[in-house]
Amino acid sequence: QAKAGGGNQFRLFETNMAERTRNHAALDSQLRQAVERNEFVLFYQPQVSASTGQIIGAEALLRWRSPERGFVAPGEFLPRAEENGMIVPINEWVLMEACREAKAWHRMGLCHLKMSVNLSPIQFQRVNVAALVVKALAATELDPRCLDLEITENIVLEDSEAVIAALQQIADLGVSISVDDFGTGYSSLNYIKKFPLDRIKIDQCFVRNMVENPSDHTIVRTVANLGHSLGLTVVAEGVETEAQADLLKADGCDVMQGYLYGKPMPAQEFTALVSASARIGLTA
Ligand code: C2E
Ligand code: MG
Ligand code: MG
Ligand code: MG
Repeated sequence: QAKAGGGNQFRLFETNMAERTRNHAALDSQLRQAVERNEFVLFYQPQVSASTGQIIGAEALLRWRSPERGFVAPGEFLPRAEENGMIVPINEWVLMEACREAKAWHRMGLCHLKMSVNLSPIQFQRVNVAALVVKALAATELDPRCLDLEITENIVLEDSEAVIAALQQIADLGVSISVDDFGTGYSSLNYIKKFPLDRIKIDQCFVRNMVENPSDHTIVRTVANLGHSLGLTVVAEGVETEAQADLLKADGCDVMQGYLYGKPMPAQEFTALVSASARIGLTA
C-alpha cells in the first residue's frame, strides 16, 4: 500500500508514526508529573429530579490543570491514560476525592446529595475495584447509599464473570451502579439482566436532536421504557433546552443532567447553587 502510493506517502506515514510516538511519550511524562504534583481537580455537574426540579446529586468530572496547557478536558488525556495504565492511579484519586467532597457536603447539611463517579473498564482489568470502593468509603465515612458508580457498556468486553463479581460486591455495599452513555457501546443488551444495575443514562447523542428528529425521540422513549420495565432509574444526559426537558419528562425520565441545569463547576460553586436553590424553594 505504502509502496504503491510511492516513496513520499511512505515517508509521510513514517513521520506521522514518529510524531505520534513522540507526542505519546511527552503526554505520558506530563501525566506522570500531573499525578505526582496533584494537578487534577474535580468539577461537579448537577443531577436534578425530573419531578421536583430538586438537585439530588452531582456527577464528578475530571479536569487536568496543566501548568503547560491550562485546563485540559478528559477527552484529551483519558484515552492515553487508559492506554498507558495511568488511569489506575488517576481514577483511584478521583474516587477518593469525590467521596471526600460528598462527605463534606453532608457535613454542611446538604445531606441528601448523591455523588456519581465514572469508572474505567481498565480498572476492572488491573485492580480490585470493590476493594478500592471499600477503602474510599471507610476513609471518608461516606454513606454508601450516597455513592453511585458509572460504568460504560464497553466493560462487558472485559472478563464478564470477574466484572459481575466485582460489581455485585460493590452493589452489596449499598452503592448504586449506572450504565453511562447507554446505547453507544460495543455490546449486546444481554449484560443488562446479568449485571446488578440501578440506573441507565441515555446518551446525549440521542437527546441532542430528539426535538427535531423523530428517530432520536423514538430511541429515547424506547430506552426509557426498557429501563423502567427492568426496574431501573432513567437518567437523561446532555439536556440543554426546555423543549428537550419537556419531552424527556413526558417520556418518563427520572433524572436530568445537562447545561440547562448547570455545567460542570468547582465544588464551591456547586454547593452555592444547591444552597441558593434551596433558599428560593426549588429544593427541599
Ligand atoms: P460522561 O461521563 O458521559 O460525562 C458527560 C460529559 O458530557 C461531560 O464531559 C460533561 O461536561 C458533558 N456534558 C454534560 N452536560 C452537557 C450538555 O448539556 N451539553 C453538552 N454538549 N455536553 C454536556 P467531560 O467532562 O468532558 O467528560 C467527558 C467524558 O470523560 C465523560 O463522559 C467520562 O466518560 C469521562 N470522564 C470524566 N471524568 C472521568 C473520571 O474521573 N474517570 C473516568 N474514568 N472517566 C471520566
Ligand atoms: Mg459519566
Ligand atoms: Mg455519559
Ligand atoms: Mg461520555
